[in-house]
Amino acid sequence: MRPEIRKFRSDEDTRRVFLEDFIKVFKQTGSLELSSNYKKVLQIEKANEILGVINLNIDGLLKLNGAQKLIELEGNISWFYCSKCGMDKDTNLIIQNKDEFACNSCHKNILKPSIPFVGQEFSQWDMKDSWMMLNSCDNLIIFADNFLSPVTISFIDIVEKRMKNTKIICSESLNSDIFDFSSNNIDFIYESSDLFLDSLIEAFGDNII
Ligand SMILES: [Zn+2]
Repeated sequence: MRPEIRKFRSDEDTRRVFLEDFIKVFKQTGSLELSSNYKKVLQIEKANEILGVINLNIDGLLKLNGAQKLIELEGNISWFYCSKCGMDKDTNLIIQNKDEFACNSCHKNILKPSIPFVGQEFSQWDMKDSWMMLNSCDNLIIFADNFLSPVTISFIDIVEKRMKNTKIICSESLNSDIFDFSSNNIDFIYESSDLFLDSLIEAFGDNII
């Protein structure tokens, strides 16, 4: 339900509809809690062998729970910011009171959550940090379930060109028209993320504080 950024900026109605939908979904979902997989990711992230975690989810839970080496490439919905002056605000304030959907300093109602809307790019800063990680890692592990986004495929390409390894943990066979997965350095592992995370915890066991 991400609106087009141009419309969002210029049209009051688009902003109103977005806010109403956002609040509705947020209330239906209830408060978000750490899944057991996220708990495992937070544990593994502490190991020295892990360069970092790139998350394409937008729940913000890893960050809220203290992840240190995390890049939230798609941003997260736990805060809104003013696209005129940059002031930010906790999403919960807006959920509780629609009047909070206005900037405290410039009083414009063009707050948006820090996720790219249609027509917006990823944060270039976060992209550069991701490329740095991908250019120094020995292994890229992707928890894909049943989908690989174009940006994920571009990451596989970076690691593949360096002749390093990629493991794709998924629940079904994944094909792509834009990438050839036949390289010896790319393995598909048909296992649940849950089990694979367990094996990582076992592998890094002694090094996890
Ligand atoms: Zn403002």
